[in-house]
Amino acid sequence: MEEKYAISPELLRYRQALPLYVKEGMTRDRIRNFVDRYGTDGVYLSLSGGKDSYVLFNIVRSMYPSIEAVYVDTWMEFPQIRSFIKQFDNVRTLKPKKGLKQIIEECGWCFPGKEVANTVEAARRGVPWAVRKMNGTDKNGMPDKYRKRFNNWSFLMDAPFLISDQCCLEMKENPLIQYENESGKKPIVALLAEESERRKTAYLKTGCNSFASRRVMSKPMAFWTEQDILWYIVRHNIGIAPPYGNIIKGRDGKLQCTGEQRTGCMFCPVGCHLNGFAKYRRLREYNRQLYDYCMYELGLDFVLKWIKENVRCRMD
Ligand code: SF4
Repeated sequence: MEEKYAISPELLRYRQALPLYVKEGMTRDRIRNFVDRYGTDGVYLSLSGGKDSYVLFNIVRSMYPSIEAVYVDTWMEFPQIRSFIKQFDNVRTLKPKKGLKQIIEECGWCFPGKEVANTVEAARRGVPWAVRKMNGTDKNGMPDKYRKRFNNWSFLMDAPFLISDQCCLEMKENPLIQYENESGKKPIVALLAEESERRKTAYLKTGCNSFASRRVMSKPMAFWTEQDILWYIVRHNIGIAPPYGNIIKGRDGKLQCTGEQRTGCMFCPVGCHLNGFAKYRRLREYNRQLYDYCMYELGLDFVLKWIKENVRCRMD
């Protein structure tokens, strides 16, 4: 199986364990390599306003100040993220064609994460690989250790609402892909392999600069960790967007934000179970109107209540 990978899991682990200053140098090498191939006018930097993409923005602009940044305004980011983005020059703003309400009605919510949501959606249509995955079995029908976590979510198959991973595609990826097709520019993105199994697998397949992929892309920080991002922000003293608060050292010696640990879409249910749905309690305190819109107009209240009542597993 491993021969199809450009990077072995061991090499990824080795890179992830390197000191930050070494990683910074490697990231700059990969950016240089990518820009050498397409030129500064042939690439763009995907900027969400979150801390990962802001660190990458900081590095890229220190090397090539004229590279365009592209921000997709979904209207779901914290208002301070939008204000944060506005302070930078040469940032193009794109808008998704559909709003969240339409996407939820047509495709459903993305929960608990993209991979499970994608599998639930396909399994509900009876697609064999997805059904096997939700059953926690391999292609021979035998129990599979990796797929057990999908089986833990099999109760979602009976959910009285739609579930899929289409939301990010419609809201964030399609506007960027359309821009790439129109402009011919290639993206530089701040994806980290440690964020999800999906991102890790994608990284192992192509490495940092995927010159041979259908969608050519540079992921020059893929081997960074969340702690690297926080340490870079502290060491270089770059101010991050207000929703994160300050960066402090926790009792375990690790850096953490005093506010949101991740920003992204305010209403997004991806991973919300991992900290007891606390993001919605914070949203209610932050802005009652937005909370009510999310819960009652978009219907997330019903979705979350059903999930809490029907959890028959230990959530992963
Ligand atoms: S982060 Fe969540 S809410 Fe935002 S586009 Fe992606 S799935 Fe939708």
